[in-house]
Amino acid sequence: MTRTSGIRDEIEIYDERFLYLTVGNAWVDKLYTGALWAEGPVYFADGDYLVWSDIPNNRMLRWAGGHVSVFRDFANNSNGNTRDRQGRLVTCEHGARRVTRTEPDGSITVLVDQFQGKKLNSPNDVVVKSDGTVWFTDPPYGILSDYEGHVAEGEYGGCYVFRLDPSTGNLEAVAKDFNKPNGIAFSPDESKLYVVDTGGSHAMAGEHHIRAFSVDQQGRLTGGELFAEVSPGLADGLRVDQQGNIWTSAGDGVHCYAPDGVRLGKIRVPEPVSNLTFGGPKRNRIFITATTSLYAVYVAATGAQRP
Ligand code: MG
Repeated sequence: MTRTSGIRDEIEIYDERFLYLTVGNAWVDKLYTGALWAEGPVYFADGDYLVWSDIPNNRMLRWAGGHVSVFRDFANNSNGNTRDRQGRLVTCEHGARRVTRTEPDGSITVLVDQFQGKKLNSPNDVVVKSDGTVWFTDPPYGILSDYEGHVAEGEYGGCYVFRLDPSTGNLEAVAKDFNKPNGIAFSPDESKLYVVDTGGSHAMAGEHHIRAFSVDQQGRLTGGELFAEVSPGLADGLRVDQQGNIWTSAGDGVHCYAPDGVRLGKIRVPEPVSNLTFGGPKRNRIFITATTSLYAVYVAATGAQRP
């Protein structure tokens, strides 16, 4: 069954469970436009503001109380952002090919910029596990052209998913069999890790899917089976709600999958979506980075991770 709900037919329902995850009279609200490629949203509950990246414009923006300002200029073509368990901003930088942490005093600490003595490609998206380890993906988008970084060769010969322990500096490649690993998120109990492959961006028949791994107590991955093929477009970024539903970006909006892999519905967005995050004081508002703009919509779900 497909039917639409919502005041502007922006919500498509494929499974009745989605009626309980969305708000029928909530609409997709455009908060800002003027980016070249918006991505990497992260919400700061302590200040009720959102930070995100405008990668080609080489800056980070902040939405607060309806006002948008520059959060960081010359941001090394930043992309994915999250917060660690101490609330510090963690950022993937295409241009500098590294993952950084912004300290409370504003100084920037490089968490990692090489693997076995070789440069990373261009870290794309990142999540911090409850044990403090930093998990990130390393596709080549920041070195394929000068648009989102600087043209360069990959050095270590792959595009891996990494786990970094900032307390020891130990960096481990936890998955090596991706074409272009991208969005990354844990299930609420962290027993599952969802990782996107956007190989389809540079191959006609390339990957546009989400894979699901099991995570053991030592942080090792097993499985990695196909979880969902996302269409139209690519999955890119994704987040998980408290019930374990997976909310992912797509070419026509935000799609929602149940933990059993059933696509429950979608929220249409006027521009192709790169990423999203749960925010607002109740973590029930999805902030959506979509090409040139930032959108938001209230839903009847709550983000799993309290960043
Ligand atoms: Mg991405």
